[in-house]
Amino acid sequence: MDISLAKNKMLAAVLYGKELVKVEPVAVPDVGPGDVLVRVKAALTCGTDVKVFRRGYHARMIVPPALFGHELAGDIVAVGERVRHLRVGQRIVAANSAPCGECFYCRKDVENLCENLLFNNGAYAEYIRIPSRIVERNTHILPTHVSYQDAALAEPLACVLRGVDETTINPGDNVVVIGLGPIGLMFVRVAALRGARVIAVGRRQMQLDRAAALGAQVLLTADDSLNVVTAVRDVTKDHGADVAIEAVGSPRTWQEAVQMVRRGGTVNFFGGCPNDTTVPIDTSHLHYSEITLKASFHHTPAHIKAALEMIAAGHVTARQFVNSEEPLTKLLEVFKHLMSHNGHLKTAIIP
Ligand SMILES: [Zn+2]
Ligand SMILES: [Zn+2]
Repeated sequence: MDISLAKNKMLAAVLYGKELVKVEPVAVPDVGPGDVLVRVKAALTCGTDVKVFRRGYHARMIVPPALFGHELAGDIVAVGERVRHLRVGQRIVAANSAPCGECFYCRKDVENLCENLLFNNGAYAEYIRIPSRIVERNTHILPTHVSYQDAALAEPLACVLRGVDETTINPGDNVVVIGLGPIGLMFVRVAALRGARVIAVGRRQMQLDRAAALGAQVLLTADDSLNVVTAVRDVTKDHGADVAIEAVGSPRTWQEAVQMVRRGGTVNFFGGCPNDTTVPIDTSHLHYSEITLKASFHHTPAHIKAALEMIAAGHVTARQFVNSEEPLTKLLEVFKHLMSHNGHLKTAIIP
């Protein structure tokens, strides 16, 4: 047991509101009968956390003051008396939520839309409590060759895998990915692994280079002089793409995504737009071209498991998606930087 644990205090990031996060001593969480306590070994920054930091809250996921951070892997240091399948010393990854398994949506097999989704935040801390429902449904032991940083990618990758499942990507399909942040790049990776011809659309050369390294075959620089819809039609023999994945979250790119798919094509609006925005849609295009519009949110326990398997197989690694490492005490600077500089990969926070 650490000295800090014995004193019952730990260092943790507390989100107080808009652009206000403090790393301070707080009580180590209590471990209930079905919970486990984890010593965090790596916590990854995420676009959602940056959005929460900018806004100060997330209606569904986190309301301040609250412990912060949700992508993590670490070691179990305590288990509740009812926990049978896990023990102290095991290396694990735990998802940031778990569905209830009983509500209308869980019974409809869309657990990501669970009415009682239990969220868990607090990864930017020395220790995190994993509540019993997540322990039972969404916690996995790491194979020895999987690093903590690799494993912590399971949550965002699970969201991407669900998005890909919803979208249907066949070998040889032209798949456009708009937006090349970590999530867009994960879509590039997964679509390329499924045999698609990936057309990556991004603003910065560095992002396009990363997309190429992950398997994108066509790169389009989205500067103001480029008509991205025409450009996609040009590289798809005028038909348009089979699939367009929007991973920016802006009404303008949502609209472009609809215009760049072929007849019978599918659009996945993965990037969430600001609240209260709307997008006009050309109804005849939608109707006569039989366009399918999809959106996907979050993940399910099956996708978390599939994500970890993909990571264990070496198809997705921290080397591809994490490009810096910082101690927990630097968290505020890290977020200020992420907020003002686009084109970043993830930062691993090592508490
Ligand atoms: Zn995330
Ligand atoms: Zn439910």
